[in-house]
Amino acid sequence: MNTINHGLFDNLNKEFLNSEENNISLLFEKIKYIQGENVIGKSPKIQTKNFFYEEELVKFSLNEEGLDSLSTLKEVAQLFQGVIRPHSPFALFNMLPSPLLDTIAASTMTQLYNVNSLMDNFGGKSLIFEQKVARSLGRLIGWPQSVGISCNGGKLTLLYAIRMALSRMFPDSNTKGIPTNCVILTNEPSHYCVEHVCMLLGLGSESCIRVAADENWQMCERALTETIKEQVARGKKIAAVICCGGTTINFAHDDTEKIYHIVMQVLDKLNQNYKPHFHLDSVIGWLVFSFKRDSRIHDMDPIIKGKIQQIIHRQKGLLFFDSCGVDFHKTGLCPYSTSFFIASSKDMFNLLNDGSYVYEEEDFLYGNFRAYRYTVENSRPASGIASAYVALRRLGIDGMQRYFVALHRMSLDIAKELEKKVAFKVLNKDSLGWEIIFSIRFEKLKRKEQFSTLNIEQNFITFCWNKCENGDNFPFISFVPGYKASPFSDSQMAFLIYPMNLNGRECIEEIIDHLEKAVHDFEKSVLEGTLILNVIEKEKTIK
Ligand SMILES: *Cc1c(COP(=O)(O)O)cnc(C)c1O
Repeated sequence: MNTINHGLFDNLNKEFLNSEENNISLLFEKIKYIQGENVIGKSPKIQTKNFFYEEELVKFSLNEEGLDSLSTLKEVAQLFQGVIRPHSPFALFNMLPSPLLDTIAASTMTQLYNVNSLMDNFGGKSLIFEQKVARSLGRLIGWPQSVGISCNGGKLTLLYAIRMALSRMFPDSNTKGIPTNCVILTNEPSHYCVEHVCMLLGLGSESCIRVAADENWQMCERALTETIKEQVARGKKIAAVICCGGTTINFAHDDTEKIYHIVMQVLDKLNQNYKPHFHLDSVIGWLVFSFKRDSRIHDMDPIIKGKIQQIIHRQKGLLFFDSCGVDFHKTGLCPYSTSFFIASSKDMFNLLNDGSYVYEEEDFLYGNFRAYRYTVENSRPASGIASAYVALRRLGIDGMQRYFVALHRMSLDIAKELEKKVAFKVLNKDSLGWEIIFSIRFEKLKRKEQFSTLNIEQNFITFCWNKCENGDNFPFISFVPGYKASPFSDSQMAFLIYPMNLNGRECIEEIIDHLEKAVHDFEKSVLEGTLILNVIEKEKTIK
């Protein structure tokens, strides 16, 4: 060993040089150390303080000599400050599940063995497990030949869908580049990332045309017809129609059969002889695929049953669709990132490659299968494949149904408890989802002239969030500045509770009592002058 390296190697401990495969208990000790009591308490958020990014960056530089394991892990433990603890029944901020321990065990193993799912010679059976997840979910829809891609989030499922649409419509585009005479249609409440996906694909964000929604948040029939006519008149082709399959707020879900028929009929009348790519953004609503066969849950509340039947009805047209998206890290009890793009046929292998290769059945033989030909990534983790597979096996079809019903059950219970208090009003009883949107009255403040022009709601949410940042055991809820129950209602300030942790059912009263007391304390402090309301500009919806 030469002298320059000497110091470096002195500081490396044995396991760094030779990672120990069998010493799982050492791995466990290290994880336990990071989790250490100094970091993680009982609150929904791990305590943190404000900081400036640039200040932190100026202070940080690489060390000459390597640190020992303990000091390094102690430092990295700080990464978790400000992180939400999904295991807390008070973590009600967003659609964040607490992953099943088995999914963590399986995905951790893929990391310990450094499994690369780019091709089966390296990644072993991870590629067949990936296809098993895709095929089994596809079968629930009625796609007996479905295949799929494990990917890094719902956004990439949209990217794959739109890229597939372009290849289908313009077979040359895999080799020559994409044309500009096409648009992507989607429902107004679709996820905000569709424009960015169009930009990333080189179509430009303006190629994403949002069709106005009707009072039920479905694409409005008339607006859809008019939009297609308009675009065709401008010489554009409709490459893809992206339907909503459940959204975080209001659970917007298109009627797939209706949309399919309208689009095909309007195009036919305009002498446009092609079929656009139909994709359902079901990253949230996919759990309802499990209800297709029958509904074995007998103790189901009639309200919940009605909602599920409505969603099942709207998913009927999926048989005519070409692809859909699934986020196991939203409604599948998996850690990030566990998403699947699912296509109804093996066309996917051809449509997503660079045009220099044609898929043949023998490629589907162990030893020949190469995912990198059609995936965004080259090297690719197998953690999502392992997690998704484990979650599906643990739940089974019955468990998927029960989980969906249980989320709704908890939501109804929270809404009922909220409504017992005069200060709160639930605004979204008609949503097909389990989110709870509510308003707060602030009776005492609104009676005083001097507070009426200030943004009381936003000051209140800051008051609540500060408690959580301080590590208090206080419900971590969310804020929806421009909430609309329907596209035609006036927008209003509202608050959001996203129940995801089923343990939360045991502390519903406690959660509501905390919120009620906070309203009381907040109003009291403002009236006494110990809390000064800030003038806060209206926050825009996340874009
Ligand atoms: C969350 C979400 C996305 C984006 O998914 P990520 O997993 O965050 O990339 C897309 N569409 C819908 C409807 C979503 O709710």
